[in-house]
Amino acid sequence: MDFFHYRQSKLYAEDVAVEAIAAAVGTPVYIYSKATFLDHLRKIQKAYSRLDTMVCFSVKACGNIHILRFLAGAGSGFDVVSGGELYRAMQAGAGPETIVYAGVGKTDVEMTEALRAGIGYFNIESEAELENLIGLAGQAGCRTRAALRVNPDVDYRTHKYTATGRKQTKFGVDIERALKVFDTYGANPDVRLCAVHVHLGSGGKTIDPYVDAVKKILPVIAELRRRGHAIEALDLGGGYGADYVSDSVPSAEDYAAGLIPLLEGKGLRLILEPGKSICANAGILLMRVLYTKTGGGKKFVIVDAGMNDLIRPSLYQAFHFIWPVAPAERFVPDRRDENLSIPGTEVVDVVGPICEGADFLAKDRALPPLARGDLLAAFTAGAYGFTMASNYNARGRTPEVLADGDVFTVIRRRETYEDLVSLER
Ligand SMILES: *Cc1c(COP(=O)(O)O)cnc(C)c1O
Repeated sequence: MDFFHYRQSKLYAEDVAVEAIAAAVGTPVYIYSKATFLDHLRKIQKAYSRLDTMVCFSVKACGNIHILRFLAGAGSGFDVVSGGELYRAMQAGAGPETIVYAGVGKTDVEMTEALRAGIGYFNIESEAELENLIGLAGQAGCRTRAALRVNPDVDYRTHKYTATGRKQTKFGVDIERALKVFDTYGANPDVRLCAVHVHLGSGGKTIDPYVDAVKKILPVIAELRRRGHAIEALDLGGGYGADYVSDSVPSAEDYAAGLIPLLEGKGLRLILEPGKSICANAGILLMRVLYTKTGGGKKFVIVDAGMNDLIRPSLYQAFHFIWPVAPAERFVPDRRDENLSIPGTEVVDVVGPICEGADFLAKDRALPPLARGDLLAAFTAGAYGFTMASNYNARGRTPEVLADGDVFTVIRRRETYEDLVSLER
């Protein structure tokens, strides 16, 4: 569910006509719906309310400080994976104890910053990292808590770049090694190893891998407790389904229905790190058609947004529903589906201006006839959209606009040519 919809053949972000935003700030531009973020966050909080749960929004999915600020205000904590994301979360007013910090390559500087900030948990990915953290905590005179990231080795069935819970990944340690890590370091007073972290990957479409992972991890926690380790929390990471195509993934209540019976009464605080499931369909990328052309029996729609603005189609073969902002009435879509076919559409590739063959937003997609100047929206672009944007081809990054009811606010301005060279002066 989100708050982007057609009214009288025009696309609205909440109660703001998307055309008005294009007129005010130009294209391309990311447009977010505040109500959508909050709706998804609240649904997750509510679904797990029977457990002691901390929902930590994954900053890497969508990190604008204005968005983090209202999420923090609604009770969200944050999952960060770098010093920069920690800084963002702190700038947004997050309570440090609500921050969890994951990542295989945390530097000494980043870890010391997080120690000084007093974050909730370090999510530890290797023995070497844990040893380093113990040393740094001693030097800084800080105490902290840590969760060990364990690979439950379940099959996540997603794109190979986004499955992280198998044995052969660079993330975490396997179950057998986890026991040894706790036995070796579990008694350290500076870094209290008192939680288990699991993150299976991103882009999941079913509940089963989570249920399987919890079923594999609970006996490990029982064994750790038997050996005298006080385990207080289980962090189940992120990767919950995001609605890219109408109702194609389980809801927060569906996940909770599968997981709560396993976790209830276990004396574990539950930490969740949802990214996409909160923000993916809270954002669209708005772009304008520059040209249309035919070549090699194919029709191309060339738009003013490219892979530097939204890299997911090129990087992960990701699907984004793309549709005109002001279609003729008979083309108003009833759903956002890969296979949506309306008589009168034509099959095209939607491509960007970047000098790369991989610069496309959609391939072989049935779209209404388009002309120069038409506005198009790429839906479910709120996750890993702007945060993965670059300046490739010396293109300034797009502005970010937040719609809230009938008001919109520019929460990040468009980068200028001056911005592009300012650090080189
Ligand atoms: C990326 C990431 C997440 C968020 O994943 P989503 O698919 O956006 O929900 C959560 N936890 C960790 C450790 C991550 O790396």
